[in-house]
Amino acid sequence: MKEKPVYLDNNATTAIAPEVLDEMLPYLKEFYGNPSSMHTFGGQLHKKLEEARERVAALIGAEPGEIIFTSCGTESDNTAIMSAVDSRRDKRHIVTSSVEHPAVLNFSKHLARKGYRVTFLPVNNLGQLDMDAFFKAIDDDVAVVSIMYANNETGVLFPIAELGAALRDRGIIFHTDAVQAIGKLPINVKELPVDMLAISGHKLHAPKGVGALYVRKGTRFVPYIFGGHQEHGRRAGTENMASIIGLGKTCEIAKTHIDEEATRVQAMRDRLEKALLEKCPQARVNGDTKNRLPNTTNISFEFVEGEAILLRLDEHGICASSGSACSSGSLEPSHVLRAMGVPFTAIHGSIRFSISRYNTNEDIDKVIEKLPPIIKELRILSPYGR
Ligand code: PLP
Repeated sequence: MKEKPVYLDNNATTAIAPEVLDEMLPYLKEFYGNPSSMHTFGGQLHKKLEEARERVAALIGAEPGEIIFTSCGTESDNTAIMSAVDSRRDKRHIVTSSVEHPAVLNFSKHLARKGYRVTFLPVNNLGQLDMDAFFKAIDDDVAVVSIMYANNETGVLFPIAELGAALRDRGIIFHTDAVQAIGKLPINVKELPVDMLAISGHKLHAPKGVGALYVRKGTRFVPYIFGGHQEHGRRAGTENMASIIGLGKTCEIAKTHIDEEATRVQAMRDRLEKALLEKCPQARVNGDTKNRLPNTTNISFEFVEGEAILLRLDEHGICASSGSACSSGSLEPSHVLRAMGVPFTAIHGSIRFSISRYNTNEDIDKVIEKLPPIIKELRILSPYGR
């Protein structure tokens, strides 16, 4: 691709911020020591490790000791759930939602195959959690509740504060997958009643392959990966230092960009959404448009194939993603849109645009110019065309 792409797929992954890369590079080149070494060359890395921990903690109002570095958001989610069930061997019930990322959904299904009872809470047609089903599911056998902070496909937010408050005195560990929310919304664990919270570097302008798990002080914790004494014995394996330093830096600068998410980023998203709904007949937004991430819109263009839309956008250098089967890299169309009861004709034509602070108004203009004629053409070709 010669031209710079119009990248509107930031919920899939993000560009590494230049300041982050600058801070990382020396630790890939000259300072390659091991932070566990006794000598000064390695030992100096230990200071950087702890600095990164302080920076991640500061973004969410945590204590540095409450942050464990991991290899990704998926590992953080798996670790949280596994630790919760391992530390409550007397309890066999896991409660989660039907719209979680596969990092939670498929791990919960794996535990179900191992004999745990798992409740997948339903959502309504706006993607909001069924609160009656939540209260019904909470029994004395629940070891852990894992509910995402924000859905990656629709951006819909879940009532984490309310859920946490309901669980607080019941001795149930409450984990939230905040991978999509961190850096986009202000989150403060001093006020948010969660025991664990998952973070992934590559969703907030740090590299892929690094994540963190917040574990509230006093929460029982059993490691998921055993080996050396790294992370105070809570996650073994020699630290991915450059990426951890990158995660620390990105968290430090995320604080200064949070307001921009709610203003400039959201304004771009809203302008894109409004224009596409106006210019494309039979288009609808999937999910609650009030309680939503500022950067995400999921729009169904009915009676058109999502893959075809993506291919045509790709010809113009525009990157987005779709909830239809092939383009999402899975065999099944979006489990999130299905759980919301979105009709199949609309799921197949669903496109997610996810914006970041690196997008410009020109990017949005380009999509507004290119997409409506594509939809029109594809509708004519479609067997369902109108
Ligand atoms: N949770 C959510 C909500 C996500 O969107 C993702 C990534 O798409 C993950 C977890 C997994 O994160 P990672 O790619 O770092 O494993």
